[in-house]
Amino acid sequence: MRIAEILRRKGDEVATARPHQSVADLVIDLRRYNIGAMVVRDEAETILGIVSERDVVRRLAEQGNDLLERPISAIMTRVVVTCDPDDTVDDLTLVMTERRIRHVPVVREGELVGIVSIGDVVKSRISQLEDDRRHLEAYIFR
Ligand code: AMP
Repeated sequence: MRIAEILRRKGDEVATARPHQSVADLVIDLRRYNIGAMVVRDEAETILGIVSERDVVRRLAEQGNDLLERPISAIMTRVVVTCDPDDTVDDLTLVMTERRIRHVPVVREGELVGIVSIGDVVKSRISQLEDDRRHLEAYIFR
């Protein structure tokens, strides 16, 4: 299965933030949208980084409550791993496992066209396994 198929099912919406927004605002938005990470972009919509709840928790443990007033740019990861809609879900699973990341923005020709989380990947793999099981049953019991 390809990443494009996951996006077709879940949609292409991506929650994004600006680098100068505070970590306090980020935490509110993560809760509001019920998500674990946001892509950080500038006014020209260029991707500058990605920030996840893990960045907040880690830095909170290191820096304490003052972190909440700091800008997102202070805690985001600047080298962003992205994928293409034509990549396979199997390849993306490998990337997420090896790099220990749970969110990967989908970029086509330089444009942000979606985001895939580890939850989306697990869901798609379960549905693929269900399909395989149904086909095998149909083959065996026909
Ligand atoms: P996550 O597993 O997505 O909560 O993120 C774990 C760590 O990896 C955090 O420091 C994130 O900023 C970073 N991270 C998450 N997704 C990506 C990505 N696609 N590219 C680079 N770093 C990422």
